Amino acid sequence: MSQNVLRVEHLSAAPGTAVQGYWEIAEMQDGTPARLPVALLNGKEDGPLLYLQAVSDGDELNGIAVIRQILRRVEPARLRGGIIAVLIVNTHAFHHRQAFSPVDGKKMNRCFPGHPDGTSSERIAHQIFHKAVLQADLCIDLHQGGVRPMIDEVRVRVDRRKRYHRDSFELARVFGIGYILDSEGPEGQLARAAPERGIPTIDPELGGCHGWDASSIGKGVTGVENVLRHYNMLPGRPRIPERQIVVDAFIPLLSNRGGFIEYQADLYAHLQTEEVVAHITDPFGNVLETLRAPHETIFWSKSLYPMVAAGETVATLGKNIRYI
Ligand SMILES: [Zn+2]
Repeated sequence: MSQNVLRVEHLSAAPGTAVQGYWEIAEMQDGTPARLPVALLNGKEDGPLLYLQAVSDGDELNGIAVIRQILRRVEPARLRGGIIAVLIVNTHAFHHRQAFSPVDGKKMNRCFPGHPDGTSSERIAHQIFHKAVLQADLCIDLHQGGVRPMIDEVRVRVDRRKRYHRDSFELARVFGIGYILDSEGPEGQLARAAPERGIPTIDPELGGCHGWDASSIGKGVTGVENVLRHYNMLPGRPRIPERQIVVDAFIPLLSNRGGFIEYQADLYAHLQTEEVVAHITDPFGNVLETLRAPHETIFWSKSLYPMVAAGETVATLGKNIRYI
């Protein structure tokens, strides 16, 4: 039996209990506290501690729906170990329904591990990282491709030569969503900063949409439950696909003409070299150019709107395909 009380700031959960509350982490212009919704689940038995977060980019909402379902499904009495979940990380951006914080113009997922004397996003990141993330044995930072349509996938953002790449990659495999990007991320990403402190971390990207997408949310819930089962935090066997696709880089497919996109392939397509991805057409529907896959690739994300300017991305393709 665990004797440890799970704590984040003033919130605490005794073994076998769940607590939900708000963490006052910043102040708005009129002095109103900016607060983050936090849930603590403390299992009856000792085990790993999982840190979960969502809405690090303020318009990426699927993750919050995933955590809400996990909170409904997981009973502390059946849990081994614990879960700390921060449901809305980038509170300023969330209230403005945009990705970046309107206070400092920064992307939260370039600010980890944060800075105590930095800008608003850096200060929030610093508190989250030091008071919540560093307690964890495993970390899942739930994202999506913004509002741009994208496949459901999971990212490993640690350099392959670094410690904890292996453990982070294993966490991605266990999440079991079927598609993995294995590529070092930019500095300041949580999925890069936390492994540097010894915490295996993944960045699931649950599609791309406005609002909530039930299919992407469902895959996210399955992914988190797979992790809980694989690491023996919950009973039962994880549902991990026998074969998953890994890519290690993206190629943007750019239009050379301005016009309207008529896709000839869809997301998830396994494209062969020279396979047609899209026609660019004029407003009347006449074809101006045909865009083809430059290599064997996976069709990873596409444009939200049907129109493009010259030099704008029509599709993002995942390359160097391998299977695990
Ligand atoms: Zn994101």
